Amino acid sequence: ESLEHEVARREVERVSDELKMYVHAKLMQIKKLASDPILVKEVNNILEISADIHKKLKSEQSRLANTVDGAGEWRKLENLQLTDLVQRRLEFLQNPSDCDKAKQILCKLVVTECGYGCQLHHVTFCLIMAYATQRTLILKSEGWRYAPKGWESVFLPISKTCRFKSDMAASQWGPNSTMDNSQVIELPQVGKLSWRPHFLPPAIPEDIADHLTCIHGDPAAWWVGQFVTYVTRPNAMMQKFLNEGKEKLGFTNPIVGVQVRRTDKLISEAKFHSVDEYMHHVVEWYDIYEKKHPGVQRKVYIATDDPGVLHEAKKNYPNYTFVSDNEVSKSADRGSRYTDASLRGIILDVYLLSRCNYLVCTFSSNVCRAAYELMQSLQGDASECCKSLDHTYSFEDDHLHSFIAVEDHQSQREGEISFNAGDTIRLTDNQWDVYCQGTNVKTGKSGLFPSYKTVKKIERVKMITYSEVPD
Ligand code: GDP
Repeated sequence: ESLEHEVARREVERVSDELKMYVHAKLMQIKKLASDPILVKEVNNILEISADIHKKLKSEQSRLANTVDGAGEWRKLENLQLTDLVQRRLEFLQNPSDCDKAKQILCKLVVTECGYGCQLHHVTFCLIMAYATQRTLILKSEGWRYAPKGWESVFLPISKTCRFKSDMAASQWGPNSTMDNSQVIELPQVGKLSWRPHFLPPAIPEDIADHLTCIHGDPAAWWVGQFVTYVTRPNAMMQKFLNEGKEKLGFTNPIVGVQVRRTDKLISEAKFHSVDEYMHHVVEWYDIYEKKHPGVQRKVYIATDDPGVLHEAKKNYPNYTFVSDNEVSKSADRGSRYTDASLRGIILDVYLLSRCNYLVCTFSSNVCRAAYELMQSLQGDASECCKSLDHTYSFEDDHLHSFIAVEDHQSQREGEISFNAGDTIRLTDNQWDVYCQGTNVKTGKSGLFPSYKTVKKIERVKMITYSEVPD
């Protein structure tokens, strides 16, 4: 397969999804305005048939992407090899033979107002910083509120050879740190980075960028997924717990994952979404899947911090089998006391969500993003295997990616921006009806723009290539 072929194939998928979103959104608008019952009936008809045509299109696209000429297997194999390379580089970076000489980056897990997914992303961020500056990451995690004995109560050590020492002298991270020769540099707490280096996501390393953009539809998520994978390698006890949990719950593929984040998240960080909104996408996925796999048992894995969700789903969707570790979810929350069970519960949820064939959740949640990121190194190109009900994907929730215009666009109405091919548009919000909110970097104007006239910008950055590690 060539890069051009893969890019074109993914564009066809993306644009046909946009067409469907656009038609759906507009017809719903017309339906709301229409008072004539004959018109409403006709609109319903069009909605139904266009949705059905779209499912047929998706089914054929999936065949083209996965079955025809063994393309799916090829992509999986390539992914495996690239994953192996990056994991070996991390292994090399993290286990220097002489720690007294090795340059290091220090991260302390003392964050308080931040849940498991957010803390996992902090450790991920630390390891990305370590990789790009070629410094071994030292994680001080004793006293971690999720597990007072530290990260290693559940995961493999981040480094086997270098440990945190209480007398470590460290300089603080700042604008000159990439040139700093101090042996240890300490990173600030979550969200407190006053100077943001250009190599952070969505940037990907130049040396693997061509290969990666050929085999993957969301290179930035794949790249982050490598680090999440490394830091969450379960220790023997955790692996046993995960294997037993999977078995006990009857988790088998095919299965669609749903993560419903509610409770404290709804106070100021995210909007409420009903069970039906999540299930709409589950039903759609199975309708498409069933075209090639008639009679499939429709299984759904539900992870949530709201125990009412499972009950509602079971009641309203009797043709679906729901799998959920409800006991565990009930004990999970942030803000209150943490127990071993709640840590194990959330790890199991992220583990199983990442192993689902398809995932419906909200990218505003760190839990949803972590599962999506893990999917990428586990399942080949799983960039199309997740539907977010709110944001588009970005590693840090408040640091969204940019688009590049591929054709000129003249503003059609008030609130829309104009652009020329080649302009960079910084995304601020996605409306999921083809229109996104953004800022044209060249003109400084902000407003709506049609996403199908743009492509996601992939930021390639020159990073250390770890030549000591063989390809
Ligand atoms: P965010 O707040 O959704 O971005 O994610 P965080 O991981 O930072 O905080 C959410 C916290 O709520 C987690 O640490 C869990 O304790 C709990 N939680 C949220 N969603 C789930 C879920 O689906 N399953 C479980 N077990 N816990 C969850």
